[in-house]
Amino acid sequence: MTQPGSGPAAGQWDAAVAAIRALGGTDEIQLICHVNPDGDALGSMLGFALALRRLGFTRVRATFPGAFLIPGPYTELPGIDLLVPEEDAFPAPALVLVFDVASESRLGGLAARAVAAPVGIVLDHHASNTGFGTIRLVDPQAAATSVLAEELTRRLGVPLDREIAECFYVALATDTGSFTFDMTTVAVHELAARLIATGIRPGDISRRIFDTRAFGAMKLVGEVLGRAVLEPSAAGGLGLVWTYATLADLERHGQPPYVLDTLIGPVRSVAEADVSMVVKQVGAGEWSVSLRSKGAVDVSRLAVSQGGGGHRLAAGFTGFGEPSDVVDIVRRLLGEFLN
Ligand code: AMP
Ligand code: MN
Ligand code: MN
Repeated sequence: MTQPGSGPAAGQWDAAVAAIRALGGTDEIQLICHVNPDGDALGSMLGFALALRRLGFTRVRATFPGAFLIPGPYTELPGIDLLVPEEDAFPAPALVLVFDVASESRLGGLAARAVAAPVGIVLDHHASNTGFGTIRLVDPQAAATSVLAEELTRRLGVPLDREIAECFYVALATDTGSFTFDMTTVAVHELAARLIATGIRPGDISRRIFDTRAFGAMKLVGEVLGRAVLEPSAAGGLGLVWTYATLADLERHGQPPYVLDTLIGPVRSVAEADVSMVVKQVGAGEWSVSLRSKGAVDVSRLAVSQGGGGHRLAAGFTGFGEPSDVVDIVRRLLGEFLN
């Protein structure tokens, strides 16, 4: 695990800049973000892909592992034309850059390629980052991976423009909960100010990314929230609230999986529970688990114990069996990871 308080080690920024400057304009550069990409994964990756194009690199591709399903809100991000399905990624690129990936398991079938590349630059901010990559720009204190991507952009001498700024802004707004979470520091607002100064429109971006959904998605969310369970005695009496959603729920409402990623917002707002959880079906007997805490539990350590990862107050892992099996495991582990 990356130690709290430790940003990139001395020399890592210079090494990243030197590695990029050493490339020729037609060398192949592959950018990769985590499976089921969110706003930070896609925004930091595509913003940096555009910065590489501004530097004159002509062979730049971005990708993520698994089904090539781009969450609706992100389909119009600048640089989206550089995004290709996993099978169209460069087979043997000169440089791989990895964005918002806590562990190699989140790289799916692309993990081997990331490791085999002559240079692998890792940009990440997960406390649970496992330490892979040859050059590591990892800072658990950073509010989003785009904080690191913007710093590398600056150190490469690429000025921010509207397109790059929109990508980094979406990433920053996503991971700070629209500038409300604990990581929302002075530096975060200063970065937001630099991005907004390029002329991007935060109101339009917020409406498109956070405040727009299909009618069917709203009905689905209503149904899933309606079956939420509150367990006041869990987590040493501080309370657990959880719900689950199945593939059949998605099908009944004609919705893609990513609409379930917004569910944790209303669930975590429940006053009677410190810990909140959404159990989302991804396959037969396989569930993607989102965990949040208001401070009583280190959910990152809990998630890591189940093969997942994340941050102290927001983490996830893959669970198996029925939703009740996943809830049983989490309920039992909560006591072990109380702060
Ligand atoms: P989510 O609940 O999907 O919004 O994820 C919360 C945090 O946990 C994010 O920082 C994710 O990158 C991380 N995370 C979620 N699932 C996993 C997993 N299976 N392995 C590692 N990290 C995860
Ligand atoms: Mn992410
Ligand atoms: Mn992130």
